[in-house]
Amino acid sequence: MDLPTIDTIAVPRTRAEIDTSGAGVAFLAGGTWLFSEPQDDLRKLVDLTGLGWPPITVTDDGLELAATATIEQLVSAQVPGTWKAQPLFRECASALLASFKIWHSATVGGNLCLSLPAGAMITLCAALDGSALVWRSDGSQYRVPVLDFVTGAGRNVLLPGEVLRSVTLPRVALRSRTAFRKVALAPLGRSGAVLVGRVDAGGEFALTVTAATDRPYVLRFPTLPAADELRRAISSGIPGRAWYDDAHGSPDWRAAVTQTLAQQIREELV
Ligand SMILES: Cc1cc2nc3c(=O)[nH]c(=O)nc-3n(C[C@H](O)[C@H](O)[C@H](O)COP(=O)(O)OP(=O)(O)OC[C@H]3O[C@@H](n4cnc5c(N)ncnc54)[C@H](O)[C@@H]3O)c2cc1C
Repeated sequence: MDLPTIDTIAVPRTRAEIDTSGAGVAFLAGGTWLFSEPQDDLRKLVDLTGLGWPPITVTDDGLELAATATIEQLVSAQVPGTWKAQPLFRECASALLASFKIWHSATVGGNLCLSLPAGAMITLCAALDGSALVWRSDGSQYRVPVLDFVTGAGRNVLLPGEVLRSVTLPRVALRSRTAFRKVALAPLGRSGAVLVGRVDAGGEFALTVTAATDRPYVLRFPTLPAADELRRAISSGIPGRAWYDDAHGSPDWRAAVTQTLAQQIREELV
């Protein structure tokens, strides 16, 4: 939709050219959310795509995803064959309500920064122990685990003027075996729960719960837990107030389906 209050679209080519001074400034990535509803408070968009960040880079540490990498680029990334977690890229992309056409514009960073419970790029990056690199407006930068980047429904750690630069997924996580489950109230509905289980080479198990909760939760175990232990860990590890409540599912339902999907994941990874 048109955004009639916008009078400036800046396209910086370098970090030094990013200017977020003044009121009503927002970063623009794929624009799939920004242009999907009125943004009456906004006056200026700072288009991050002009910075020309390489979208997907295999590094010594693992995989670096530029914030501006599109979901399509992520899904079609060429990565080492030993990275058994790669199917998770497509599974998480498919958990978005968005069609494959949106995948060509929507970015990984935009999904994280929107911080919706059903943000499946959050699921992916939290499940694989992603580390977010954030640029401060004073020229400095810091890292924060994606698990801690999202702090609630539509909320994250970013202060005004801060930009998410990239997310690094470590090799050890990319080599893990994973299992994925998603449920929604309707076949094409927004996700009510999206869970990922991960077994590392050393046998450690991590269960990531998203969409059912207002922010991601990761429960970690030294080995694959027994069914009862997993059930208890979910009940005690996720506070009652965290179960998300909206048109796409009630808190009770979300807590119940999380238990069911977690057991399915456990059985798949045994
Ligand atoms: C049909 C449809 C279905 C959708 N389904 C889902 C869904 O199931 N789950 C879901 O989570 N979303 C969904 N969305 C919303 C949205 O498309 C996605 O979250 C998408 O990944 C957002 O990415 P974007 O690049 O388009 O972000 P934009 O729209 O460009 O930006 C989103 C927000 O993030 C900020 N931002 C973007 N990049 C950065 C950055 N690097 N640093 C700081 N701030 C930044 C922007 O200022 C803006 O506030 C859907 C959208 C559509 C149109």
